[in-house]
Amino acid sequence: MAIPYYFTPGPSELYFTADFHVKNALKDKILSISHRSRQFEQIYEHTESHLRLLLGIPDNYQIFFTSSATEIWERIIQNLVKEKSYHLVNGSFSRRFYEIANELGRKGGMVKAQEGSCCDPNDMVVPEDTELIAITHNETSIGASQPIGDMQRIRQAFPQALIAVDAVSSLPFVNLPFGDIDCFYFSVQKGFGLPAGLGVWALNERCIEKALGMQENNISLGSYHAVPSLLERAQKKQTPETPNVLGIYLLGKIAEDMLTKGIDQIRRETEYKAAVLSQVISKHPQLEFFVREGKYQSKTVLVANCKNGSAPWLHALEEKGMVLGAGYGNQYKDKHIRIANFPTHSKERIEMLADTMENLFL
Ligand SMILES: *Cc1c(COP(=O)(O)O)cnc(C)c1O
Repeated sequence: MAIPYYFTPGPSELYFTADFHVKNALKDKILSISHRSRQFEQIYEHTESHLRLLLGIPDNYQIFFTSSATEIWERIIQNLVKEKSYHLVNGSFSRRFYEIANELGRKGGMVKAQEGSCCDPNDMVVPEDTELIAITHNETSIGASQPIGDMQRIRQAFPQALIAVDAVSSLPFVNLPFGDIDCFYFSVQKGFGLPAGLGVWALNERCIEKALGMQENNISLGSYHAVPSLLERAQKKQTPETPNVLGIYLLGKIAEDMLTKGIDQIRRETEYKAAVLSQVISKHPQLEFFVREGKYQSKTVLVANCKNGSAPWLHALEEKGMVLGAGYGNQYKDKHIRIANFPTHSKERIEMLADTMENLFL
């Protein structure tokens, strides 16, 4: 069998410069420095500033580092929701966030999309005192992407609620409407092509004020990763705990590499590669998009229903050294294939995958 190349939707193939930066991190011994040292603060500063540049994150957003996106779900509920959150649910990840709200004793409400689709903002019945609305920009389990315009419509309809956007599997591709949302987050093992174990949470002043207000009312915000604790350390370019220094370092280096390439170029290439994959899925007699409506089809995670089951596809491609994701969860595992289209997946690799798929099972 050939050396595997990963088109899985996370963890995925590492960004192509990652091994160079890992070697430098070891050579420069950054894994032995104190997280209270000036050297660490410089790494933190470098990562934060390059992320801001790459994604165009405005100055009214603070950036915090956590261990995962799953952790951020818990922090959002603990710090920004006293009682009521409301979730747009269209797959396993958006559903998990909704469940966490309820596990933490909040009243999480939801609107549920039809299978293989996105929620329609017109179907939202949001209780008046809802404090936060959770939107999953890219539902990785089914390859569905909520249109950006929906975020703006939701903001206009419910201006009092904070809006939290999960962009785990769509950044850095997606250009988020920062003025119409209040916080967003991602973990690095998807579109950034890095080893898992680092989450990034960016939040505006409305979120900070909300957390401080809850603290004044003696509501527990958690402990070391409560917003006031994260904020105090972030202002010194530090973290409350001994963090994933390698992850933070690598994220800064990869953000710098992506800036050198140019975010517009990355976005154009993503569109092109999505079109190449989309054509195979649409044309192959054994495949069809699980998400039928074009406006909801993700460009970063493409999910196809296989009429002959996913196993033959996964096996045939693995023999050729190409590893795709199976369907998500027991429900879809044997039916779907999921293909990541992240910045590290080059045009040539995607074209080779598409050419190979085109000729299978005819
Ligand atoms: C992978 C994923 C998560 C969870 O990320 P972790 O880093 O595993 O915590 C959350 N939301 C979406 C949409 C994801 O794809």
